[in-house]
Amino acid sequence: MVAIRIGIEQIEQIRHHAENTYPEECCGLLLGRIADRDKLIVEVRQTENSWEVELTELLPIKTGSKRNRFSIAPEVLLKLQKEARDRNLSIIGIYHSHPDHPAIPSEFDRAIAWQQYSYIIVSVQQGRAQDIRSWTLDETHQFQSEEILTNEP
Ligand SMILES: [Zn+2]
Repeated sequence: MVAIRIGIEQIEQIRHHAENTYPEECCGLLLGRIADRDKLIVEVRQTENSWEVELTELLPIKTGSKRNRFSIAPEVLLKLQKEARDRNLSIIGIYHSHPDHPAIPSEFDRAIAWQQYSYIIVSVQQGRAQDIRSWTLDETHQFQSEEILTNEP
């Protein structure tokens, strides 16, 4: 079983971001390292939710708004990928929020997800961040939950 290690302050950062963008979804990148089978998050980077309806032309699911969709612009992804590499880090995954929905991946999330990435989802109920969970794809492209370990008691 794979676990994802993340600091309390980074969890807080994700929760704040999610509350700030409510009722729209927030999104961002998880930078870190893979040690044995554990994933260590070193830094959380906010990105803009650049979801646009026009994007749906390219995607398998063609409905939605920023209230239930997110998108990270490819140029932002490339820039942060390079920055991470320069610092000996990798992009370990992506986080986003689910306004007024549980922290469970949607069919849309599954459709756009990449193998190996971790997907942290925070549920925001009526403006307040609640449950936070992490998911990763298995060999059959289904999400399995992965344990989140924090570095403080
Ligand atoms: Zn989602």
